Parts: sequence; C-alpha cells; structure tokens
Amino acid sequence: MELLGKTALVTGGGRGIGRSCALALARAGAQIVVAARTITEIQEVAKEIEALGRPALALTLDVSKLESVELAFKQVTDKWGGCDILVNNAGIAASAPIAKCSEELWSEIMEINLTGTFRCMKAALPTMLARNWGRIINIASIAGKAGAPYISAYAASKHGVLGLTKAAAQDVATKNITINAICPGYVETDMSEKAINTIISKTGASKEQARSVLEQMTPQRRLFQPEEVAFLTVSLASPLAAGINGQAINICGGAVPY
Ligand code: NAP
Repeated sequence: MELLGKTALVTGGGRGIGRSCALALARAGAQIVVAARTITEIQEVAKEIEALGRPALALTLDVSKLESVELAFKQVTDKWGGCDILVNNAGIAASAPIAKCSEELWSEIMEINLTGTFRCMKAALPTMLARNWGRIINIASIAGKAGAPYISAYAASKHGVLGLTKAAAQDVATKNITINAICPGYVETDMSEKAINTIISKTGASKEQARSVLEQMTPQRRLFQPEEVAFLTVSLASPLAAGINGQAINICGGAVPY
C-alpha cells in the first residue's frame, strides 16, 4: 500500500490498459479518478475500485476539449484537493497509408493522443508543484520510437508524446516530480481487436492469421496484457522511482531495442 494517501487520475480509465492501471494503482493504496467519455464504463470501473476498498470518482472527460479537461481537474481539486499521480492513457488509433491519411484523421489523432496529453499534464502540474511531489506517466507506444506502415498519424502523435515527456521532465526535475512514458507493443484490448478486424477486412485473413500478424511483431510472438502495463505504471508511481525521469520504457518483448 505504498500509494496510500495519494490521488491518481487515469484518463481513458474505462477499459483496456487504463482500467488495468486504475485497478492496480488502487491495489497499491491510491484513491482513483477514472476519467473518459463513456459514462457507463467509468462508473463500472469506479465500482470495481470501491469493491477493493479504495475510494473512486468517475468523471466524464474528453481530452480533446480544453473546457472538459479544465472542468474535470477542477472537480478533482474540489473533491480531493488535486491529483498526485496522472496517467495519460486516453488514446485512439486508426490506420491509413500516408497518401490516404485525411486532415480530419490526422487532427483527431493529434488532438487526443498528443494535445490531450499536454492539456492534462498542464492541468495536473499546479497541484504537484504546490505539493512538491508528483508522478506523470504517459502511455505512448513503440510506435513512438519506430515507424510502421499505415500508422503515420498515430506514430507521429506518439513520437510527439515522447518529445513532450523528455522535455517536460527536465522542467520539473528539481521539484520531486517525474514524467515518464511507457511504450507497449500490441496489447490485448479493444484497440488491438480493432487492428485485427482491419487486417481481416483488408486481406481476407482468418482471425488466427490476423492475430498472428500482430504476434509476429515481437520476438516473444504474443500480444501483451494490460496488467503488464499496469505493473510498470505502479512501479513508476512509487516513491522509490524518484530517480527515473524523462524515460520512455518499452514493454515489447525486445522488438525495439532502444
Ligand atoms: P482502448 O481499449 O480503446 O481504450 C482507450 C481508452 O481511451 C478508453 O477508455 C477511451 O474511452 C479513452 N479515450 C479515447 N478518446 C478519449 C478522449 N477524447 N477523451 C478521454 N478518453 C478517451 O485502448 P487501449 O488499448 O487500452 O489503449 C490505451 C492507450 O494505450 C492508448 O493511448 C493507446 O494508444 C496505447 N497503446 C495501446 C496499445 C494496444 O495495442 N492496445 C499499444 C501501445 C499503446 P472513451 O472512448 O469512453 O472516451
């Protein structure tokens, strides 16, 4: 229970990686703000956290809208005084070769994945600076380190998240605040299910064949589990992780060696 007394806000906490991070941070003792657009999902996760005996607050949040971010963080400040740990997990993915990547798709991905991360970071920092303690964990991707076909907008957004992480980490380095990123390969969630379905519809592959395409992308020949990302998230949130700052840590089974 090393996070007892801490408040953690997880964006995109209603399902997938965000849900696992919210539950793992609660098991480590934190009280949790579960924030995303789909009210039914965040309420369900909040109930799961309360069943673990930890306080939870479900908040509707759209990270692509500044007013929504400002309102959500105000509600956290009003209820619990602000957050100590921020997990910037909200994100979307869509595939298109660069020649067919529309302005709309580019803007939507940038707005949610990159600008949304920037907005939440800015909204969380005043409390962290006032308390002289904080942890910001940005869920990026190995697509933030290496390119791949059909994902130029997504890869650009995640490369941006890594640049933001590294630079912002230096701004707060003397304030007991750390900012790090986690870079997973394909994780078994709705997002990777969507990627599998896209492969099926574009190539006529079977479900097993399409899944195997994603599995072959790592030397471990598997998809990763949300709990593996949650484990690293809790580790980076720990007081003992104080020296880890501005890093981008892969969970990819050795696919990307940097
Ligand atoms: P997911 O199952 O689709 O969940 C995404 C979460 O983000 C949902 O809770 C969604 O909730 C929320 N979200 C999306 N747009 C939002 C917005 N505008 N404002 C607030 N919340 C928003 O995806 P996931 O696989 O768990 O992905 C989580 C993060 O991990 C993403 O940043 C993704 O890029 C990254 N990642 C995933 C994989 C993978 O293979 N799954 C690999 C590497 C990195 P609402 O739609 O209800 O808002």
